Amino acid sequence: MRSIAFIISLSCLAFSCSGQSNSGVHEFPVQKSPEEWKEVLSEEEYEILREKGTEPSYSGDLLTEKRTGIYTCAGCNQELFKSNTKFESGTGWPSFYDAVNGKVVLQTDSSFFLLRQEILCSNCGGHLGHVFDDGPKPTGLRYCVNSLSLDFIPKEKP
Ligand SMILES: [Zn+2]
Repeated sequence: MRSIAFIISLSCLAFSCSGQSNSGVHEFPVQKSPEEWKEVLSEEEYEILREKGTEPSYSGDLLTEKRTGIYTCAGCNQELFKSNTKFESGTGWPSFYDAVNGKVVLQTDSSFFLLRQEILCSNCGGHLGHVFDDGPKPTGLRYCVNSLSLDFIPKEKP
């Protein structure tokens, strides 16, 4: 009987963890109300960044961006990805094998009955996409990111 009670309490714990999505683990410096976000984001950007939406594949402007530069958060302008880590994944979403150190936070996302790692901007908590472990070397990771959650700043030629 005791082991059954133990298993039940464990599963409750696991359930409340996924439901709470790690709140308290990371404090996001930029905090805005939904109304404040709607003032600075387009409708589409708001849907992705704040409501964790996903743009249709092959719809994003940055998918075909090949210039040297830096990809920033469309919500708060924090630098997130460098162009030299971008690769062609064939998925229809901009893909990177690495993020700028400390600029993204990963958290478990169990929506749609899938266990995925969600990518958030570490500054504003904006939803960027998901990370998968089928990427190229050297990390083996694939950061699959919505084009709408990013801005691109090309590096100026010297
Ligand atoms: Zn941000």
